[in-house]
Amino acid sequence: MAAAVALAERGIPVSVFESARQLGGRARGVVFPNQVARVDESHSPSFQLSPGGGKSNRPFQGDGLILDNGQHLLLGCYRQTLRLIEQVGGNIEQDFLRLPLQLDLHGVFSFKAPRLPAPLHLLAALLNAQGLPFGARLAAVRFMLALRRMSFRLTKDMTVADLLAQHGQHAELTQKLWEPLCIAALNTPIQKASAQVLLNVLRDALNRSRADSDMLLPRMNFTALLPQRAADYVERRGGKVCISCGVEALRPLENGIELASTQGTEQFSHVICATPPNVAARLLRPLAELDSAVAQIEALQHQPIYTVYLRYPAHVTLPHPMIGLHRRFSQWLFDKGQIAGQHGLLVAVISAEGIHQELPHEQLAQKVIAELREEFGITESPQWFKVIAEKRATFCCAPNLQRPMQQTALPRLLLAGDYTAGDYPATLEGAVASGLRCADLISAQR
Ligand SMILES: Cc1cc2nc3c(=O)[nH]c(=O)nc-3n(C[C@H](O)[C@H](O)[C@H](O)COP(=O)(O)OP(=O)(O)OC[C@H]3O[C@@H](n4cnc5c(N)ncnc54)[C@H](O)[C@@H]3O)c2cc1C
Repeated sequence: MAAAVALAERGIPVSVFESARQLGGRARGVVFPNQVARVDESHSPSFQLSPGGGKSNRPFQGDGLILDNGQHLLLGCYRQTLRLIEQVGGNIEQDFLRLPLQLDLHGVFSFKAPRLPAPLHLLAALLNAQGLPFGARLAAVRFMLALRRMSFRLTKDMTVADLLAQHGQHAELTQKLWEPLCIAALNTPIQKASAQVLLNVLRDALNRSRADSDMLLPRMNFTALLPQRAADYVERRGGKVCISCGVEALRPLENGIELASTQGTEQFSHVICATPPNVAARLLRPLAELDSAVAQIEALQHQPIYTVYLRYPAHVTLPHPMIGLHRRFSQWLFDKGQIAGQHGLLVAVISAEGIHQELPHEQLAQKVIAELREEFGITESPQWFKVIAEKRATFCCAPNLQRPMQQTALPRLLLAGDYTAGDYPATLEGAVASGLRCADLISAQR
């Protein structure tokens, strides 16, 4: 959608093919038809059930609760994504709850950035963190200063665990600060995660302006927040957005690409393949010129994200809109009442691989319910719960990963997606950046 918006803005006609019944991909709204949407009126302008209503590419019509396939969090440094949301009609301050950089592992560790310019806000937060001995806090500050001196660049990539060991980061500091941060940013355990990619995120989030490290929590479902608005933007400029239109094959022609979809066959001057990596590999495999890109895609491994939604009575709340737990199944908890006026709706997020994958969903939800009871004294039972397991949520962000370039060996066929070459892990910002790059490459060829 980022590529489509950028091309439409330049007056280049675009057609978007989406195989699913709704836009959004791995950041999408999911309808719970039998659940009543209970939304505080004071939040109603920003929490839309039927965004716009009416037209054929809008799937969310009628009543029901819409929740995302997983809780998404944006950082203030996701500048291209935030700019895109505003370009298509969003308003960042209304559409998101903005929280200053903070990490709170309930009762165990907390760290909150004071209102100082970057990077002083971070250094002060580390020095004043609660729940770590002074020596560990000092080690964390020294580590950050060392990273700054290195301009957040390693001469050789390594795992995050190795980098932390090289810089004398204590086990307790690692468990309470760096490990949760790495899993949240890269969705990859520290023993497998690329130190360089983590440093890229730290460089952008922590080292420039203070607002870059802000955490932004969407107040509406993700389909309404970005892709639906982007579709409207594209259609207003003469483009087409077709949902339930899966692409089945791509065939290079002399002056373009033939695209076969469930709706028939069409020819285009260029095609951007913006599917998840497994589908991209399937579509590109028959094209001999793209062998090496296909090999890179097929070598990617994946990591899951599990999201547990729990509907409690409306008075149930958490101490903060977002709070972490230490050494529990629930890594992060979100209070949708405080975020979006959906009182009593709590969300537990479990990122990356782990023993939770071995539990049936019912049992996993019961673990989360027990944790909420033990940590916060929530004795009520939820009226319902729902576990959404995204088994291939992101690629496993390993050191020295070779990711395919947006420009392929076929000049008229490009690749977009969070898994394509870039500085960032699998994030919205990585996906948007790749789409904008494809739009630039196409504009330059015309
Ligand atoms: C549960 C979860 C939580 C996450 N949390 C965060 C977060 O907090 N912050 C963050 O930045 N990122 C987060 N991510 C990652 C983020 O969602 C992804 O990086 C991003 O959405 C990837 O976008 P994409 O366009 O590359 O791919 P996708 O979103 O996968 O989009 C690919 C699209 O292609 C469509 N498609 C598939 N096959 C075909 C076909 N044959 N023809 C036509 N269309 C097809 C799919 O339906 C989909 O809409 C999370 C992901 C998950 C799953």
